[in-house]
Amino acid sequence: MNQIAEARKQKRSALDEQAGKALLAEYGVAVPKSAMVTGAGEVEQKTKSLKFPVVVKVMSPDILHKSDAGGVKVGLKSAAEVEAAIRTMMQQPMIAAARIDGFLVEELAPPGQEMVIGGLRDPQFGPLVMVGLGGIFVEVLADVSFRICPITRLDAQQMLAELKGAAILNGARGRKAVSQEAIVEVLLKVGGENGLLMQHAADIVEADINPLIVSESGAVAVDARFILS
Ligand code: ADP
Ligand code: MG
Repeated sequence: MNQIAEARKQKRSALDEQAGKALLAEYGVAVPKSAMVTGAGEVEQKTKSLKFPVVVKVMSPDILHKSDAGGVKVGLKSAAEVEAAIRTMMQQPMIAAARIDGFLVEELAPPGQEMVIGGLRDPQFGPLVMVGLGGIFVEVLADVSFRICPITRLDAQQMLAELKGAAILNGARGRKAVSQEAIVEVLLKVGGENGLLMQHAADIVEADINPLIVSESGAVAVDARFILS
């Protein structure tokens, strides 16, 4: 709520990643522990309480797809590596040309299957919630399922079962099975009766958690974006 009011005050039409993650955390969705730094000089001091390896990401209202701009570096093992990554990022053309809010340094999520959870506001039906497998499944195969909010636990379970790639979640082809229960919980926190999309239906027109990384035992939202009405 604070995050939405703050973004409006700054005349922003979207919540940035940090604010989006703070909103998710308020609804009980796990997000990585993080620290924001304004530049390489602050890294040593501000990352003391983080567990390495970490990832660093550029934060800019002008950059929607951070990886495309060269603005995401994962698996950095020390403060010195983070500093070097930030210096390299600042030389990337798209980053050099953008307004920079800072750099988000965050702990790595436990490895797992990348999923996407999204939200949309339909003029007629109100909030809708979406889930899909991440990566190529979303981009190329468009393997997603939608429901009108609020969803029940059974709806969330059926949404997962409907995915063409559902077998992936059960550990197809030598992969480890991931926690479907953890995905269901996040779907309910986002699209359930007291979920984020219902509570903020007046403000949020689009939500995008991409990816949610789901391991054998849990799920962490490592990227989040909310577009405001
Ligand atoms: P963008 O989508 O803007 O390019 P992301 O924040 O989604 O940037 O990061 C790109 C990719 O980096 C993610 O899809 C994920 O694979 C990986 N990644 C990002 N943050 C983390 C994290 N905290 N832990 C593990 N992997 C991460
Ligand atoms: Mg992303």
